[in-house]
Amino acid sequence: MCGIVGVSHHKEASKIAFLGLYALQHRGEEAAGIVSYDGHDTHVLKKSGLAVDNFDEEGIRRLTGHMAIAHTRYSTTGSSNTKNIQPILVSHRRKPIAVAHNGNLTNTEELYSKLENEGSIFQTSMDSEIFVHLLAKTPNGDMAQWLIKAFSQVQGAYSLVLLLEDYLIGARDPQGFRPLCLGKLGDGYILASEGCAFDMMKAEFVREIAPGEIVIIKGNKVESVYLPEASKKANAFCVFENIYFARPDSRIFNDNIYQVRKRLGQQLAIEHPAKADFVMGIPDSGNYAALGYAQQLGLPFEMAIVRNHYIGRTFIQPTQFLREFRVRVKLNPIRDVIKGKKVVVIEDSIVRGTTSRSRIDEIREAGAKEIHMRISCPPIISPCFYGIDFPSKGELIAHNKTVKEIADFIKVDSLKFLSLEGMLSVMKEKGSFCSACFTGKYPTQIPKNTDKLKLEI
Ligand code: 5GP
Ligand code: MG
Repeated sequence: MCGIVGVSHHKEASKIAFLGLYALQHRGEEAAGIVSYDGHDTHVLKKSGLAVDNFDEEGIRRLTGHMAIAHTRYSTTGSSNTKNIQPILVSHRRKPIAVAHNGNLTNTEELYSKLENEGSIFQTSMDSEIFVHLLAKTPNGDMAQWLIKAFSQVQGAYSLVLLLEDYLIGARDPQGFRPLCLGKLGDGYILASEGCAFDMMKAEFVREIAPGEIVIIKGNKVESVYLPEASKKANAFCVFENIYFARPDSRIFNDNIYQVRKRLGQQLAIEHPAKADFVMGIPDSGNYAALGYAQQLGLPFEMAIVRNHYIGRTFIQPTQFLREFRVRVKLNPIRDVIKGKKVVVIEDSIVRGTTSRSRIDEIREAGAKEIHMRISCPPIISPCFYGIDFPSKGELIAHNKTVKEIADFIKVDSLKFLSLEGMLSVMKEKGSFCSACFTGKYPTQIPKNTDKLKLEI
């Protein structure tokens, strides 16, 4: 997954873009980048790791200009190689084009072969690079027609921001898989994956970009054009953004995520009540549904696991002892609260089942008498081709295990999942969601080659 930001007509555009990355850091922790434009030149800063840790003031100060776009990356196509850090910046007819993309395309193989046969040379192994090649190949007279012609060739999930000289462009695919929001700051406009970015910038939330809409922003003018496909295809907003991915203080898909998650918890309580001394969530993602669950049943809600916020990055884990230490230091159950109690543990989702198993182990070690686990979405049985890093079927625990078998693996006294109908019933935009990861029914053709590293040389 990824987070994207675009800033137009602000004298400190790159600083504002950096604030956006700060707010959207949860959408991708592998790498981040900012490209700015000052009317003559472009300036680039790209780093592996977290933007919040690795970008310094001096680096950002050098990114002069009134326009900027930014990206924070969680790789779903291509490896974590440094050449794969976005935004992608190219020069086309001596003018800069930069793009930052969130989502996965589904006709990458076909477009890649076609473009290579026509002479394109790719510099990255990301499907996102296809956008700049398509723009370069499409005759560019009228701006709106140029963008429509180029984007119409792409299938799958994309929310993107483009910097085309003095123009800031935002686009969302015709089914609207990924979010994209428009904000206003001073005389200029901002684009960001989630509304929480505007709060940090003190920008005003204007609205969401519609599925299939392309906004062309220049100065204080915003013009919208629409991809013809938009009127033919049903919306397919990613329901997992609501369940886990987006920040609770964001407003996307016409709803506030905190409230959506509480409603998921309430619905879970209606479908699968449990008798217990109290309800607890697995921090942070399980807490919101846990609160809704507890309120619905009139049970006490306890913050019985403490999250340590000073935990370092995960990749240096040389020994088993250090790995276990890391798990423990991140989330520590409070023995005095849990000991001898019957507890309901709420988690937002189970993917592989491995973290859930170790959390439950720790809650048991802290002395819980009974553990009833409740999950605020249905079992995940199919991979995502639109940008969530759900692995191959084989790695998804619910793909070939029954709920009873999963309960035995995680070692809980009972385990229940929210129903598909129950989950969809609490969403505001009825009939607008993609829930393929729970059903295996995909709203587009699925890609021929689903290997994440398919474009690797
Ligand atoms: P599992 O028990 O399946 O190993 O892990 C479930 C946990 O992973 C839940 O706490 C859920 O919030 C979290 N999770 C779900 N999707 C993702 C994801 O795409 N990335 C990360 N890092 N965590 C996820
Ligand atoms: Mg979690």
